[in-house]
Amino acid sequence: ASILSQKVINLNESASLKAAALAQKLISEGRRIINFSIGEPDFNTPDAPSLEAIKAITMGKTHYSNPQGNLDLRESICEKLQRDNALDYGTDEIIVGSGGKHIIYHAFLATINPDDEVIVPSPYWVSYPDIAALCGGKPIIVQPNSESLKLEAEELEKNISAKTKWVVLNSPSNPTGAVYTEDELQAIAEVLKKQPHVLILSDEIYEKFVYPPAKHVSLVNVAPDLKERTLIVNGASKGYAMTGWRIGFGAGSTTLVAAIKKLISQTTTCPSSISQEAAKVAFSETQPSIMMRDSFQGRRDQAVTILSTSELLGDIRKPEGAFYLFLNLEKIVGKQTASGKVLNMDDDVVEFLLEEANVSTVSGSAYGFSPCLRISFACSIEQITQGCQAIVDALASLK
Ligand code: PLP
Repeated sequence: ASILSQKVINLNESASLKAAALAQKLISEGRRIINFSIGEPDFNTPDAPSLEAIKAITMGKTHYSNPQGNLDLRESICEKLQRDNALDYGTDEIIVGSGGKHIIYHAFLATINPDDEVIVPSPYWVSYPDIAALCGGKPIIVQPNSESLKLEAEELEKNISAKTKWVVLNSPSNPTGAVYTEDELQAIAEVLKKQPHVLILSDEIYEKFVYPPAKHVSLVNVAPDLKERTLIVNGASKGYAMTGWRIGFGAGSTTLVAAIKKLISQTTTCPSSISQEAAKVAFSETQPSIMMRDSFQGRRDQAVTILSTSELLGDIRKPEGAFYLFLNLEKIVGKQTASGKVLNMDDDVVEFLLEEANVSTVSGSAYGFSPCLRISFACSIEQITQGCQAIVDALASLK
């Protein structure tokens, strides 16, 4: 018998972290791999938060803090929500955690009873179904029924039951880069208004990377009457190039915030005191994220231009947000490599591209939607040019 719990035996390791780790391993062994599987900006953390962290260390701000997050950090988050999102939250409606993932885990842990259902629209960020299941819930995966790969109101309505505890929304989306419009959110909100027992997780972690003319809108902007039942999740990781600092936050009802605070007091105690000082400054700055967004937009366009030269990739959906391309592999599965291997599914294509093009990507199967491939364009323009061309060339060798 295993020493491990059934919960952990059933848990999958994060597929994107695994793919990125494999690429790193091959690189350290001397392979020249272009890493298109990374889920983080390649920029360094801006100076102001970094210097604030150094100051925090030298001034001895290195102690335990409030499990809800320091008050001045929560004030900075409230100002950010007001300034960037036109949303009005009080500091008692904000919970700071060690990353957005940590907030999602604690929110599910705080609310899910055995067999409660969590609606997760596919393609989904790898962690939602696993975290829901780890917390005793039952993920209900909803397949998209349009080219946009977005959740539609009718599909949502069909899948809500008396057991639904949460509905997960993620805009901009990982892995598709889709950004929900105000009208689309309005339609979803109309369904949710009729279901008062349902909580909504609005994961807005890629908010800062939305390419004009697309605009980021929160569900709470279009439906303020859903504010009490919605937990907005955001953080420092993506928009502020601070993935390693581990600061995320939730904005929601005081009941839920207090419950998460209680849990954190028994799990991680509080987020890193030094990272909190840095994040307080990061959330007050808007300029660095605009610079990153403009840079990512150019990289996106470069990747799309090169990849579009492959007939096998067809019409590439240009993502309106985040830094991912989600390619459709329908014309590629079933093809044969020069050595005669049949690419039966997207996992085979990922392996083929790693071997033949020296490019690391993540399979659509990791996001519950096949046959697809996720490419992160958060790497240098040279790597994008070289890596995308290598993909096009490798695909041209298929029979
Ligand atoms: N939500 C989405 C959609 C993500 O892609 C990620 C990171 O990859 C997160 C949340 C969590 O980020 P963090 O825990 O670094 O704040």
